[in-house]
Amino acid sequence: MIVVVGSMNADLSVRASRLPLPGETVIGSDIDVRPGGKSSNQAAAAARLGATVAMVGAVGDDQYAKILLDSAAAAGVGISDVVTLPGAATGTAMIVVDAAAENTIVVSPGANDQLRPEDLPERLVSDASVLCLALETPIETVLRAAEIAEEAGTTVVLNLSPYREVPPELLRATTVLVVNEHELACLSGASEDVVDGEVAQRVLAAIGITNAVVTLGADGALVVTPGGVTHLAAPRVEAVDTTGSGDAFTGALATGLAEGRSLTDAARLGNATGAYAATRAGAQTSYPSRREAEELLRS
Ligand code: ADP
Repeated sequence: MIVVVGSMNADLSVRASRLPLPGETVIGSDIDVRPGGKSSNQAAAAARLGATVAMVGAVGDDQYAKILLDSAAAAGVGISDVVTLPGAATGTAMIVVDAAAENTIVVSPGANDQLRPEDLPERLVSDASVLCLALETPIETVLRAAEIAEEAGTTVVLNLSPYREVPPELLRATTVLVVNEHELACLSGASEDVVDGEVAQRVLAAIGITNAVVTLGADGALVVTPGGVTHLAAPRVEAVDTTGSGDAFTGALATGLAEGRSLTDAARLGNATGAYAATRAGAQTSYPSRREAEELLRS
């Protein structure tokens, strides 16, 4: 079983001809409300691929909570360990997209910020084969979950996103780190997102990480293991909206690892799932079934 501990956000998007300047009001489209949040996206992607998945997170008692819980349940994600916090607001992301597909996003963490270490179902995390973590909930909760998993021998997949410095204990408990080019650059202190296998291996080794995946958008992914670095090209697709592609990749990677695949094989499934997600609008609404992902993998 895969346990995902982390964020659940409602994505509120509006399209406008251009992004407003400070102090300015622009008129936009009707608002579009979709389930999102890195962790709930990862959970949905894994469940859509057929994995048994339990979500651990926190929502408020407003209408957005229902949208998130309904979507997770529809994808097949177990939601009995999601806590509902009376009086809290569910996490939201306010997204404005302009005609050139540029966006600005303000995330209001809401209930996600109140997910405490005490909310973690220790037994569930210990019994999991894979624990999936990201950084949109308090770091002490993420760290505690990783420590429970480490002690039990559960594989820990940490998506270092959104980037922040993390305690060394968290990296020590991590089995596989997942970063995109920007997060790798933040780790290296470089100002540009230049990704080369040797650089990646060196930057990751400096923080004690020996197994990792660096996602490269349309270019696929780099798989870093003690044996070396492998580049895996992504399937070629007509990309429409890459929102949630990174989360789809991570959910699929966790699925592959839970099935006992090698990191490279799991990353192949990640590439197919991320690429498929890029061909459709939205995050969770764009995720493939196992058959759809495997078809793209073979194409
Ligand atoms: P993030 O959104 O976290 O920055 P990436 O942009 O690196 O993540 O995308 C994650 C994964 O999604 C990639 O490794 C790849 O597998 C897939 N992907 C994203 N964009 C495309 C694309 N245009 N074509 C094919 N695959 C894509």
